[in-house]
Amino acid sequence: AGGGGGEGKKILVVGTSPDFPPFEYIAKNGSVVGFDIELIRLVAKKAGYDDIEIRTMDFDALIPALEQGQIDVIAAGMTITEERKQRVDFTIPYWQVDQAILVRADSEFRPKSVEELSGKTVGVQTGTTAADYLNKIVEEKGLNINIKEYSSYVLAVNDLIAGRIDAVMVDTPVAKMFEKQYKDKLVISAVIETGEKYGFAVRKGNTELLDKLNKALEDIMNSPTWDELVQKYFGS
Ligand code: GLN
Repeated sequence: AGGGGGEGKKILVVGTSPDFPPFEYIAKNGSVVGFDIELIRLVAKKAGYDDIEIRTMDFDALIPALEQGQIDVIAAGMTITEERKQRVDFTIPYWQVDQAILVRADSEFRPKSVEELSGKTVGVQTGTTAADYLNKIVEEKGLNINIKEYSSYVLAVNDLIAGRIDAVMVDTPVAKMFEKQYKDKLVISAVIETGEKYGFAVRKGNTELLDKLNKALEDIMNSPTWDELVQKYFGS
């Protein structure tokens, strides 16, 4: 929009929720960066786009924004689930994760299983697989877990550090980043193997875009660029 030099440029509008390091987060200079952002930028270039434009919002607003045409693609560490597949189409998977339980390092509470979360307050981000998992387990096993939903994982982690909640459930690589970022304050007490796979999401039926993205993504994943990217964000 606005014309000028941007006219006729092919722009891929990417929706994300930048509270999920190292996949998407806000750098010190205020820009949105991360593994997903860099990857979707490479994919877009390869798929013939001149540039990407990033729109940020809460995680649970991403699918509605995609459906309403406000964004073309979601790049947000989003797990491919059967439920979401009813509303969006996913690319091939590009990452796999489990769920981790984060607790305060200075407390004695070290839950090794979800059962041990009984009687405690656990923070999750609204609309995530962690929220789904906990809600399901509470129902199935009749556990007495107080699930506290936040609009962003950053807020959940802040409440955990402040002692307002007892644990946070979040995807393993993100838990590891928070653990590193808040060294001496947070620790992962358990990993629950969920074997979730991340994909980028496009509007349901947008096969043209999906095919382009899949082809580009596959090419990149089979190139040395992939290893460089992985090393950059996950290397020690
Ligand atoms: N992978 C999780 C999900 O898809 C969490 C994603 C996120 O919080 N950005 O629900």
